[in-house]
Amino acid sequence: MSDQNEEKPFLDGVSRRSFLGVGSAALATVAMAGLTANAQQRDDTAKAEGDNSSSDPGPENRVLLKQNPHTNTPPPTDHGEIGPVWYSFDLSRKRVEEGGWTHQVTQRELPTSKDLAGVNMRLTSGSFRELHWHTANEWAFMEYGTARVSVLNPDGTMFIDDVGPGDLWFFPAGYPHSIQGLGKDGCQFLLVFDEGNFSEDNTFLLSEFVAHIPPDILTKNSRLSPSDIAKLPKEQLYIFPADLPQSLAADKAAIGGSRVQAPQQYTFKMGSMAPTFTSAGGEVRVVDSSNFPASTTVAAGLVRLKPGGMRELHWHPNATEWQFWLSGKGRMTIVMPEGRARTMDFNANDVGFVPAVAGHYIENTGTEDLVFLEMFKAPRFLDISLNNWIRRMPPEMATSHLNLDAETLKKIPSEKQAVIAG
Ligand code: MN
Ligand code: MN
Repeated sequence: MSDQNEEKPFLDGVSRRSFLGVGSAALATVAMAGLTANAQQRDDTAKAEGDNSSSDPGPENRVLLKQNPHTNTPPPTDHGEIGPVWYSFDLSRKRVEEGGWTHQVTQRELPTSKDLAGVNMRLTSGSFRELHWHTANEWAFMEYGTARVSVLNPDGTMFIDDVGPGDLWFFPAGYPHSIQGLGKDGCQFLLVFDEGNFSEDNTFLLSEFVAHIPPDILTKNSRLSPSDIAKLPKEQLYIFPADLPQSLAADKAAIGGSRVQAPQQYTFKMGSMAPTFTSAGGEVRVVDSSNFPASTTVAAGLVRLKPGGMRELHWHPNATEWQFWLSGKGRMTIVMPEGRARTMDFNANDVGFVPAVAGHYIENTGTEDLVFLEMFKAPRFLDISLNNWIRRMPPEMATSHLNLDAETLKKIPSEKQAVIAG
């Protein structure tokens, strides 16, 4: 594990003088002492030599503290309370079945996130997530391995495809679908649902539908005999092992002809698409209804930041942001009205949340690439760049607000960069 965040990062990129009104000698003392956010809210003055206001002689969870250097003791620019913006799948109970597992981060775990909920799922080779449907639309990102997915359209056509790392799928609400692990070791994937209160334990299952219909009705409907019906599952299968399927071509041939000519493409190769934005600091791949028409309610950006790279100061005019952190580590500050601001650290397998239209940045604070998904319950990915806005207005307008002369303003990049190099 990298130790680069062990130092308390109080002076990161901000002038403490402007927040505390103290001289440079006291500044160093204050930085050493490490004020708490509460202390800053009390019109703080310089602390005496040897001040230990932020010392913590009681118990500490050192593992958590080391992963979250800005979370426990925030930078002096933080202020007030914005509600929870962090959770981790590693705090979420796994439901382990023969054939794999699932766990989730929903509005129940992260109450501020009302638009989207996430499920992480593992299926071993050949194992199924049982045929099912649900009230939410389902967007998915393949993290590992390969899977076969299928979905039935109301017009009777079946869409069936194989997906691998970096691939997406989108299944409309109510459309019945399947997921099966392929290859030697199956797959793992993130599911994102456009209902904050979604529960993976509360989906409509094939097994339960047939198990709770009176047998005479089932016979009339299906023409199955009572002895056939006696063989049907009596309880849900949910996740269960099965043999590996035939090749995709063989499965398509078995369905046959026009019945496998679905009018809509429900999978998308996000990992191998050309980046939408690129700079020396990293790249962003945007997938929304403009390039993946099936995804009518979920827009996503797959962001890769090089060490020191930063997702520029921006906000999203049309949605809250739900993040899944895939690898590396970083920090984010979110700024809300009345000067409320919160800085948090994030690590792989964490979920981040940004309230609607709140300004934020994300900085790679690690020594490896930081990769995360930013997701929106919206048909389009939209963001506003602070730099772009400042440079697009008449210079006098910016000068009046920022106390900077027109020449100085030209230092600010004039176009949206998405990612800024360190
Ligand atoms: Mn589903
Ligand atoms: Mn964002």
